Amino acid sequence: MLCPFCKVDDDRVVDTRITDGGRTIRRRRLCHGCGKRFTTYEKISEDMGLSVIKKDNTRVPYDREKIISGLEKACYKRPIAAPQVRLLADRVEEDIFQHSDKEVSSKFIGECIMDHLKDIDKVAYIRFASVYRQFNDVSDFIDEEGLQEKTNQQNKEQNANGTGSDSGQDSPAQ
Ligand SMILES: [Zn+2]
Repeated sequence: MLCPFCKVDDDRVVDTRITDGGRTIRRRRLCHGCGKRFTTYEKISEDMGLSVIKKDNTRVPYDREKIISGLEKACYKRPIAAPQVRLLADRVEEDIFQHSDKEVSSKFIGECIMDHLKDIDKVAYIRFASVYRQFNDVSDFIDEEGLQEKTNQQNKEQNANGTGSDSGQDSPAQ
């Protein structure tokens, strides 16, 4: 990147953050020419139109956030820091875009994730692989997990409301 201050192309990334719900990567860079810092933003181009082909042959727009949430679930309570998860997502993403920038099967994404997880953490790998094989589709895995969270929440709410009472039988309105 050309430094906006001294126009020298020699810098180092000192901080990387995902913002905008995973759609933007913000990098703080340190210029080796003048020592000043500047910020660059990296976005997934909206018009690139990478489609993910699901197992049932439906297509959904590619969503990096889904890969991150899948990785986070696999790495839950494992000694893998959030920046490492994002680095993993970067590698998976590199694989995907090397494969195709038009369409990719969710099966391929799942295999990329397993490939990279295997090198990092065996438990996270086995966890992901077992759930993945059960659904055989990453997007199903993620959707299903989301569904479970919702169901658990509903159950909690029902318990909090005290089920089994006759509170539903209100006295007739006037
Ligand atoms: Zn500079």
